[in-house]
Amino acid sequence: MTISCHLHPDIQNAYKVLDGQPLTRQEALDLANHIHGEDLLDLISLANKVRHRFAAPAAPACSIINAKSGRCGQNCRFCAQSAHHHTGIDTYPLLPPEKVLEAARTAYDHGVRHFGYVTSGYGYTEPTPEFLAMLETFDLLHRELPDLNLCVSIGILSRQTARMLAEHHVYRYNMNLQTSPAQYARLVADTHTIQDKLNTIAYLKEAGITNCTGGILGLGESWEDRIDMAFAIRDLDVEGSPLNILLPIPGTPLQDQPHVSPADAAKAFAIFRLVNPTKMLKFCAGRETLMKDFQALLMLSGLNSLMTGGYLTTRGRSVPEDQQLLQSLADF
Ligand code: SF4
Repeated sequence: MTISCHLHPDIQNAYKVLDGQPLTRQEALDLANHIHGEDLLDLISLANKVRHRFAAPAAPACSIINAKSGRCGQNCRFCAQSAHHHTGIDTYPLLPPEKVLEAARTAYDHGVRHFGYVTSGYGYTEPTPEFLAMLETFDLLHRELPDLNLCVSIGILSRQTARMLAEHHVYRYNMNLQTSPAQYARLVADTHTIQDKLNTIAYLKEAGITNCTGGILGLGESWEDRIDMAFAIRDLDVEGSPLNILLPIPGTPLQDQPHVSPADAAKAFAIFRLVNPTKMLKFCAGRETLMKDFQALLMLSGLNSLMTGGYLTTRGRSVPEDQQLLQSLADF
């Protein structure tokens, strides 16, 4: 009996990534356009092999606290916290340092060593009293939990404020592109620019802070836009990328946006891994709420980390459940 191999030619070609050869934009686009149905698991398998070779073992989970919620003057179309939309979320001013410490300790006691501090708003291009209050919180966290890695996401920065974060124990910063840079104003927001974000990433690099820069699937973008985002992130040479799937929130302009299917999410994640073989790719929003039974398959589509313990305005699973998931995935 002869057994023939029927790998799709575009996937066969993409096996070169395992030999350290980069995928071109056209090759990534061919995968997006030609791989469907039964070929999809072959693409997922390749992405998992690439993850295994270049980005294993699975990186630790991280957890976040929303330290200031809502009342944001920016108009990001997906976001429940924008004052331009009517989402009815809980809003509150900056949390006091003790509250943040309490949340960090809970995450720490569950074995989490990467803690994200997130606030709503444009950001801080000057050391305002609120910015200085945050620095005090970071000092407190460092004193009490010295081996907790502090990741921060507080919006647009200047060279000065980026440097001040570095002086106050911030080791990583989250600044998402969200989508293809060329489509940012149309698909995300026009109250600030993608250039503001790219400048912030450059200032952070100058200051010695590592970057976690990713985006969202499901904003109404095309496959070309998804691939342009993957390449833009590759070119920025950031340390990691959070990948989110839009959970359309009532009251936002995207409330009726169709959900991304698990198959499309898996294809996008796999292509993202092939374009960014060595990076930490982290599954964040949409994992349990939208992908439900498919979340493990999606992790196997080339991802090597996840966010645990609740995400901003939507709910997550328990930290031990997520740690178990990550440990089990390491066997594949
Ligand atoms: S994503 Fe950030 S900047 Fe944009 S509306 Fe939401 S809180 Fe504001």
